[in-house]
Amino acid sequence: MKAYRLIAAHDAQVVDVDVPEPAADEVLLKVGGAGVCHSDLHILHMAEWPQMPMTMGHEGAGQIAKLGSGVTGWDVGDNVLLYLCWGCGRCRTCAAGYENYCEVYKREIVPGPGLGFDGSMAEYVVAQARFLVPLGDLDPVDAAPLTDAALTPYHAVNIARSHLAPTSRAVVIGVGGLGHMAVQILTAVTGAQVIAVDLEQSRLDHAKQLGAEHTVVSGPDTAAEILDLTDGRGAEVVFDFVGAEPTLQLATDTIAPYGQVVVVGLAEGTLPFPAAMPPMGLPWGAGAVKPYGGTRADLHEVIRLAQRKKIKVTTERHPLADAPRVMEQLEAGKIAGRAVLIP
Ligand code: NAD
Ligand code: ZN
Ligand code: ZN
Repeated sequence: MKAYRLIAAHDAQVVDVDVPEPAADEVLLKVGGAGVCHSDLHILHMAEWPQMPMTMGHEGAGQIAKLGSGVTGWDVGDNVLLYLCWGCGRCRTCAAGYENYCEVYKREIVPGPGLGFDGSMAEYVVAQARFLVPLGDLDPVDAAPLTDAALTPYHAVNIARSHLAPTSRAVVIGVGGLGHMAVQILTAVTGAQVIAVDLEQSRLDHAKQLGAEHTVVSGPDTAAEILDLTDGRGAEVVFDFVGAEPTLQLATDTIAPYGQVVVVGLAEGTLPFPAAMPPMGLPWGAGAVKPYGGTRADLHEVIRLAQRKKIKVTTERHPLADAPRVMEQLEAGKIAGRAVLIP
C-alpha cells in the first residue's frame, strides 16, 4: 500500500509498504480520510523524532476492514474515527478518562497514530479496537479531523469551562484548523462572546460565519482593540492556537483578572510570567494551562455535536499522493480550514 512516511528528520515521502496485519486485540482500518495538522509540520521540522520510519497522520477515519482474532463488538464495514491519545488504559489517570495524560509516559507526549505509531496517512492503519469510536452516518472524510482539530479545542474549552459563561468573552488566536473548530465549539456549548484573531482577513471572515461576534486582524494594535471590546478588562479566556512569542504576549496583555490563558499552539514561544505587581505580566488571579488532545468521552461528545450539525469541519480534499505538496501549502498558510488526504 501507499503510505506517507517520515523517513528521517526533515524528510517525509509517499512510499510503498506492506499492509499491516492486526494483532489479536487490533483492527485493520481502511482509511477514508486523514487530516493534515500543523503538528505534522512541527514533527517534520524536529531535529529528532524517536520513531522513524513512521507513517504520519493522527487524524484518521474510515471503515473496519479486518478484525483481530480477539476483537468483539465491532464488525467489518463499521464507520469509525480513530482516537488520538493511546494511553495505557490501566493507570489511575487513564481510569479517570484522561488517557491524554497517561502516567506510563511520565512527562512525555502520550503516543498515538502518526505520533509514535504508524498513522493514518496510508491506505490502511492498525489500532487497538478500544481506540475506535463509532461515527454513525458521518462522512469519514469530513469527520476525520474531528479526532484532533475538534477534540483538542473541545478539551481546551472544558479545561476553562468554569470561566465561560454567557457574560464571558473568549479570544481565539489563530482560526486555522483547530481555531475554526474552537469558534464553533465555544458558540455551541458556552454562550460566551467570541473574539477571533488571525493574520489573514479570509480566516476572520470565515470565523464570523461560524459564530465569532468580533474579529481582529493581528497587528500592533490588537491588544488595544481587544481591551476596547472588553470594557478595558480583557477576556475571561484567551485560547492561543499559535503559541508564538507575539501571540503569547497578546494573551498576557488581554487576559482578564481571574481569567485563564489556554495555550494549545506549539510554536515554541514563551508566555511572559513575571512574579510582579500588575500591570507587569498577568493580571491578578489569571492562570495558564497547556492542554493536550482530549479524552475519549470528549471525542464521543464532539461526534455528537457534529451529528447534530452544531459543528462542521471546513475541509479541502487532496489525494494521498499529494501529501508533500499539501504540507507545503499548510506551511505557507494556504489551506482553508483543514486539508484531508484521501488514499
Ligand atoms: P493551522 O496552520 O491550520 O492554523 C494556524 C492559524 O494561525 C492560521 O489561520 C494562521 O493564519 C494563524 N496565525 C499564525 N500566526 C499568527 C499570529 N501571529 N497571529 C494570529 N494568527 C496567526 O494550524 P492548526 O493545525 O490549527 O494547529 C495550530 C497549533 O496547534 C499548531 O502549533 C499545532 O501544532 C498545535 N496543536 C496542538 C495540539 C495540542 O494538543 N496541544 C493539538 C493539535 C495541534
Ligand atoms: Zn494535531
Ligand atoms: Zn495510563
